[in-house]
Amino acid sequence: MKYAIFSDIHANLEALNAVLSKCERLRVDKYISLGDIVGYNANPQECVDRIRSLDLAGAVKGNHDEYASNNSQEMEGFNPHARDAILWTKSQLNEESRQWLASLPLRSTIPQTGITIVHSTLDSPEAWGYIFDIHHAADNFSYQFTPLCFCGHSHVPIAFMKKPVTSASEKPIDEIMHWSHKRNESLVPDVVDVEDSIMIDIKSGYKYLVNVGSVGQPRNRDPRASFVVYDSVVNTLTRYRIPYDIELAQSKIREAKLPERLATRLLLGN
Ligand code: ZN
Repeated sequence: MKYAIFSDIHANLEALNAVLSKCERLRVDKYISLGDIVGYNANPQECVDRIRSLDLAGAVKGNHDEYASNNSQEMEGFNPHARDAILWTKSQLNEESRQWLASLPLRSTIPQTGITIVHSTLDSPEAWGYIFDIHHAADNFSYQFTPLCFCGHSHVPIAFMKKPVTSASEKPIDEIMHWSHKRNESLVPDVVDVEDSIMIDIKSGYKYLVNVGSVGQPRNRDPRASFVVYDSVVNTLTRYRIPYDIELAQSKIREAKLPERLATRLLLGN
């Protein structure tokens, strides 16, 4: 079975369509959404419709989904751009989409798959914390009872593995360094136009905590849409980077009169 796992689409329909056509070419069987389908970009309703039309194995709620679908004006930790985008998003979503987003759980274990999903962190998902280092990963692993856990929220791909048994001298948790390579480098333009992928072989008895990156607003200076495929037959995780029509996504942001910064950051990948 092939599962496509993605997060932080953020209403970027061009990026989502590019990812989904790649999934078709890869013959993905089922889809898993890690939240923040809406917010920031210009097609929230269309992205919710597209996600709901997929064969979903699981879906969890992100903070932007939460704020766009509840009746409160409170948006903890949001800067003015994110806040403006949420207020605009609320005006774009129909009642059915709002109810669907509001109904999503904060974390979920998908039966028969060995997969747990969360937008932020397993230890306290409602606090919308981030996993940036091995200490955050350690907190998360103590609440992870399946071999695989997928998360999003930071828009920066990062992955950790926890070994089954350790001697006193051995570190139990390692960052899988090549998963997040390039995160501090700018990519040259011709590299940005090609697809690229990174693979991990899943070892039995190990636990993996994997941030899949962002489809619709990548922030590791690589503007290409990021997502992951888990192949449960050959036991691999592959993270793809897919080019998409950034200019079209930008023009829609400007047409909707959303903050200009939301358009410029797409090309910079930050
Ligand atoms: Zn997000």
